[in-house]
Amino acid sequence: MKTFQDFDLPKSLQKAIDTLGLTTPTPIQEKALPVILSGRDMMGIAQTGTGKTFAYLIPILKQWKFQTTDSPRVVILVPTRELVVQVQEELEKLVQFMSVRVAGVFGGVNINTQRKAVAEGVDILVGTPGRTMDLALDGVLRFDALQKLVIDEFDEILNLGFRFQITSILTMMKDKKQNILFSATMTEEVDEILDEYFDFPEEVSLAPSGTPLEKIEQFVYHVPNFLTKVNLLKDLLVRNDNMERILVFVNNKKLVDTTFDLLDEDFAGQFGVIHSNKSQNYRLNTMASFQRGELRGLITTDIMARGLDISDITHVINLQFSEVPEQYIHRIGRTGRADKEGTAISMVSPQEEEILIEAELLMEKELKAMDLPDYIEISEKKLDFEKDRRKFKTIGKPIKREEKGDAFHEKKDKNKKVNLGGPGKRTPRKTAPRNRAVEAKRAAKRKKGK
Ligand code: AMP
Repeated sequence: MKTFQDFDLPKSLQKAIDTLGLTTPTPIQEKALPVILSGRDMMGIAQTGTGKTFAYLIPILKQWKFQTTDSPRVVILVPTRELVVQVQEELEKLVQFMSVRVAGVFGGVNINTQRKAVAEGVDILVGTPGRTMDLALDGVLRFDALQKLVIDEFDEILNLGFRFQITSILTMMKDKKQNILFSATMTEEVDEILDEYFDFPEEVSLAPSGTPLEKIEQFVYHVPNFLTKVNLLKDLLVRNDNMERILVFVNNKKLVDTTFDLLDEDFAGQFGVIHSNKSQNYRLNTMASFQRGELRGLITTDIMARGLDISDITHVINLQFSEVPEQYIHRIGRTGRADKEGTAISMVSPQEEEILIEAELLMEKELKAMDLPDYIEISEKKLDFEKDRRKFKTIGKPIKREEKGDAFHEKKDKNKKVNLGGPGKRTPRKTAPRNRAVEAKRAAKRKKGK
C-alpha cells in the first residue's frame, strides 16, 4: 500500500501531513494525485468523506512555487458558506509550514471586509460562486495570474442554482489553466457544462471496475418500437423471478420518466428513478432503498448512473441501445456479482441496429438473438422521438423507391443484421472516429449480412 512518503512531497507539506497524523492516502487521493500532477484537466467523482478535499489540495501544494503575484493562482469554488470555511480550514492546516496566503469569500456578510482581504493579495481563494462572481465583477478580484480552477461539489453548486454564476466566472477566466472538478454524482447539467467549457477532462472515480465481459450473458431482442419494448420487459418481469436487481437504461431523462410511469402501472412501487432533476437527497434515498433490496429496479441513463456505486446487479436491461458502443460495455459491466454471471438484455429497434453491430465489433462478440414471443403485443403507437427520427431522415435524404424496397426486404428478414441507416440517422458521436480496421470489418460484416 502506498503512503504519503511515496509521493515525494516537499518537506514543509510532508511535515504538515505528519502533524495531522495522516499516513496513507485514501483511494481517491491515490487516483487523483498523478492526474492533477500531470497538469491535465480532471473530473473526479467522489462523495464527501472520501478525502476528496486533500485529493486536490495536496497535489496543488506539491507543485507550489513562490511567485510574486497578488491575484490568486488557485481559485476553489464550493457550493456553501460552510464548505468555504471547511476547505479553508483544511487548506490552512496543510500550508502551516509554507508561505501561502489563503482567503475565503462567501455571501451573506459584508462584502467590504472581503474586498479588502482580496485587495491585499491572495494566493489561494476559496469562495462560493455568487460572492466570487461579485468580487470579480467589482474588479478587485482578478484572474490574470490564475493557474488552476477547482470546482468542488459541482452537482450541488448546480442544484443550488449557481449555473449562471459559474458560467460567468468561467467566461471571465482565461482558457489556459488547469481545471479540476469534483462531483458526488454525474448529472446531465454537469455533463452539459463539461461539454461546453472543458476539453475532455480525465475521469477519476471510485466506481468498481466493470465485470469482465466473459462473465456476462448478452441477449438481444429485435423489437419494432419503444412501447413494444416495454411490453416485452413487462412480460420478462412477470416470467422471471430471478430478475431481482435490475438496472434499466434509456438515453434521456424524459424517457426515464415515461418508462417509470409505464412500469409503475403493473409493478407499482417496485422501480425507482435516478434523476438529475431531483435533489441529491432524493437520489441518495433511492439508491439506499435499492441497495437494501426494497426496489426491484432502477431506471436511469448513462449520465445519471455514472459515479453511482451500484453493485450486485442481476440484470442490465437496455430499453434503448447506448448511443456509443463503449457506453454499452460500461452499462453491461454493471451486472454480475463476485461469483455469479450477470445478464444483459438489449432491446433493439431497426434504427439501433447499426450501433449494435459497432458494439459487437468492439467486443468481438455477438449478442445472442432471442425471438420476440408471438404473444407480445406489438404497439402501433410511436413515441415522439421515434417519429422525429423518421421525419429527420426524410428531410435529410429522400429515399429512392428501390432503396425503400431493399430496406423493406431486409427488415422482413429478421435474423439478419442490416444497416438501414443513411446519413443523419444518428446523433453525433462523442468518441474519436473509428479507426480504419474497424471501419473495414464493419463493412465486411454488413456485406455478409446482405
Ligand atoms: P473530505 O472527503 O475531503 O470531506 O474528507 C473527509 C475527512 O477525511 C476529513 O476530515 C479529512 O481530514 C479526512 N482525511 C482526508 N484524507 C485522509 C487520509 N489520507 N487519511 C485519513 N483521513 C483523511
